[in-house]
Amino acid sequence: MRDLTLLPKAHLHLHFTGSMRVATLADLAQDARVRLPAALLDGDPVRLAFDERGWFRFQRLYDAARTLVRSESVMRRVVAEAAADDAAEGSGRLEIQVDPTSYAPFVGGITPALEIVLDAAREASATTGVEVAVVVASSRMRHPLEARTLARLAARYAGDGPGEVVGFGLSNDERRGETADFAAAFRIARRAGLASVPHGGELLGPAHVEDVLDHLRPDRLGHGVRSAEDPRVLDRIVADGVALEICPASNVSLGVYAETAQVPLRVLVDAGATIALGADDPLLFGSRLVAQYQVARDELGFSDPELAELARGSIRASRASAGTTARLLAGVDAWLARDPG
Ligand SMILES: [Zn+2]
Repeated sequence: MRDLTLLPKAHLHLHFTGSMRVATLADLAQDARVRLPAALLDGDPVRLAFDERGWFRFQRLYDAARTLVRSESVMRRVVAEAAADDAAEGSGRLEIQVDPTSYAPFVGGITPALEIVLDAAREASATTGVEVAVVVASSRMRHPLEARTLARLAARYAGDGPGEVVGFGLSNDERRGETADFAAAFRIARRAGLASVPHGGELLGPAHVEDVLDHLRPDRLGHGVRSAEDPRVLDRIVADGVALEICPASNVSLGVYAETAQVPLRVLVDAGATIALGADDPLLFGSRLVAQYQVARDELGFSDPELAELARGSIRASRASAGTTARLLAGVDAWLARDPG
């Protein structure tokens, strides 16, 4: 068995606060003398009902963690640890998502909030060797005009290297907001050369995926896993070259599937979709990047050549430079060329 931590890969679906280590969160809670819900500290994956109450509980837990990230030094620590954990798991490229709005009140606005993350990303890249780039994420829970403001902010820092903004996202409850209302923000981002990387097709099915395809023209879909339910929509994703950021642990924690063995990764791969496995929110979902590849191997029967192809998909779907892409792809070939024993 080849070691999956040594397989070079890119990590394209990881949220800033959700990336936090449980031990770090426990530290922050102690410093702030805050009692956190046990579900945040036990390290077990949360299991939520597949309904609005389940999502509400998820948001409450997430918010409880986020309220402890309220200084520049903590923000820097979160980025540094996310990069270090990615480095330990064979990731050569991390594109971490952040909504600067959440941290703006503590550091003097959305611009400093983003600049802190970008600077920490540059520093972490130098320290760990993992290229850390940033996706600025807007929220479905906020007014679409705020999304436009964020897109204009993101555009000012556009690039493909460490500490630069590579994409623009849309997160939070898929059932909230009108997707079309966010199209203007995505146009601003696209004009600046940013990748369009909205969430879609996890809590809602293929009709929602089409809505996102029509209005936001994604380069990658956050999740999109439920496009497996409609071959026509899945064909469209493949024809349009939209990569899918598949996060098995997230799907199970949020109740989309009862167990990881039911995640239709095989259906998506067989249809020809480009896949990038991601951990989404390890803090809540209880596992990091390599665990998602482990699911593919252990639960879904992916062979080493197939796992290597998943890793290649993640690297190709990243916004890394041609040089970085070539280096990581060569690493995948070298991994596969190794004696499996
Ligand atoms: Zn996500």
